[in-house]
Amino acid sequence: MNFNIAVIKGDGIGDEIVTQAMKALETVGAVYNHSFTFTDVLMGGCAIDATGVPLPQETIDVCLKSDSVLLGAVGGPKWDTLPGHLRPEAGLLGIRSAMGLYANIRPAVLFKPLKKACPLRADIADRGFDMVIIRELTGGIYFGERGRRTTENGVEAFDTERYHETEIRRIAKVAFETAMTRRKKLISIDKANVLESSRLWRETVHKMAVEYPQVEVSDMLVDNAAMQLVKDPSQFDVVVTSNMFGDILSDESAMITGSIGMLASASLGDSKRGLYEPIHGSAPDIAGQDKANPVATILSVAMMLKYSFGLPKECAAIEHAVDAVLQAGARTPDIKDAETTQVVGTRQMGELICREIGK
Ligand code: NAD
Repeated sequence: MNFNIAVIKGDGIGDEIVTQAMKALETVGAVYNHSFTFTDVLMGGCAIDATGVPLPQETIDVCLKSDSVLLGAVGGPKWDTLPGHLRPEAGLLGIRSAMGLYANIRPAVLFKPLKKACPLRADIADRGFDMVIIRELTGGIYFGERGRRTTENGVEAFDTERYHETEIRRIAKVAFETAMTRRKKLISIDKANVLESSRLWRETVHKMAVEYPQVEVSDMLVDNAAMQLVKDPSQFDVVVTSNMFGDILSDESAMITGSIGMLASASLGDSKRGLYEPIHGSAPDIAGQDKANPVATILSVAMMLKYSFGLPKECAAIEHAVDAVLQAGARTPDIKDAETTQVVGTRQMGELICREIGK
């Protein structure tokens, strides 16, 4: 089969990591008899430089016509002083909105060979963990009413956390259904002791729980969740939470896997078309130096194969290849430890994974 993929390389390390992920897809295509047609489009800082806006209409059009979208990362110090609506990150929010992507799925797995890179105590890391964080992506405080006003005591700024029952229901449905394919344990994270929007969140999740009697559901306050993630991450299976809490907790879960360079994500809406990207940013500090870990982006295209193209075997082939390369000892600088003997760059890590897929 042929699949059309819109490719947004973005800024910083985007080009380097996306190139390796495209090679992984091509290798999968050669082994399993699929083809992929890639169309490059601009978003972020490079789009601002070329067109004056972070998300040109052409990019939206190409993405909406594609079977799926692969994104590297956007942003960098060059564009940090622009007004909010013209910053590269506005492109991210814009494309998620334009594609109707309301569910962000972020697996956080501690790969066995990377236990030493996990910053948690050895006895905690030894237990391992394998969780999926489901973050609501198009509602809440990142999209709520915001502004500044002048008061008699000076300038005041505000942002609004707001959730509609339907937004909570549709993200909770993704979470319940994901839980059904895993260990059937769902933890809903909120701040219901303080926030009214969280109380509605909790009520709605509980109302839905009756439709999924096999799933064990519990609530956790976000401050406790931040602690539990470092105390005993093995207790989590599927987590569902709001946009801002998910943003913060998924970075925390990334860190305990050893490196932000290992974690993939999928953003999905009602159709099969999704946006697949590593969870990290554009890492301007290492851009262009062949130091970036391409694994998060490579695992993101594995998720694309499974969620958007219905190709679980091909997804597993990439995941096994990553595991095998790590087992064999190859490490990019972000995941190396005292015992590492084979430090590799972005390109070599990509090549090793492709070679393994092709075996
Ligand atoms: P970052 O994720 O880019 O980098 C944080 C740290 O992790 C840096 O030390 C970086 O070198 C390292 N790192 C990140 N990805 C890595 C990889 N693949 N391999 C090895 N090391 C890696 O976060 P930041 O520094 O806070 O942000 C840099 C820029 O990226 C900012 O402009 C920010 O707005 C943007 N950003 C974009 C996205 C996105 O495009 N989805 C997400 C987060 C941040």
